[in-house]
Amino acid sequence: MFMRVYCRRCGGSFELYSRDDVTSRKARTCPHCQERVSPETWGKVVEAFDACRDACEALFSDSKSKTRFTVDYIDDTIYKNSRA
Ligand SMILES: [Zn+2]
Repeated sequence: MFMRVYCRRCGGSFELYSRDDVTSRKARTCPHCQERVSPETWGKVVEAFDACRDACEALFSDSKSKTRFTVDYIDDTIYKNSRA
């Protein structure tokens, strides 16, 4: 599993994988422009990443289902009606 982080400052994006140290200072720093997410906010991002990974692993290992499912979580908070 990986997460893609979009930097609204420079327009760049970067990916972080489960094997990466997602809690590091480097992980919360845009490699293109060096903009950085605050440690407090990044803690929430990592917490959500871990929860998503747990959910996807549960879907994958559910042997009772013949159909395998995967889920992508897509952020739409930049849109006005995202909470509607
Ligand atoms: Zn950037």
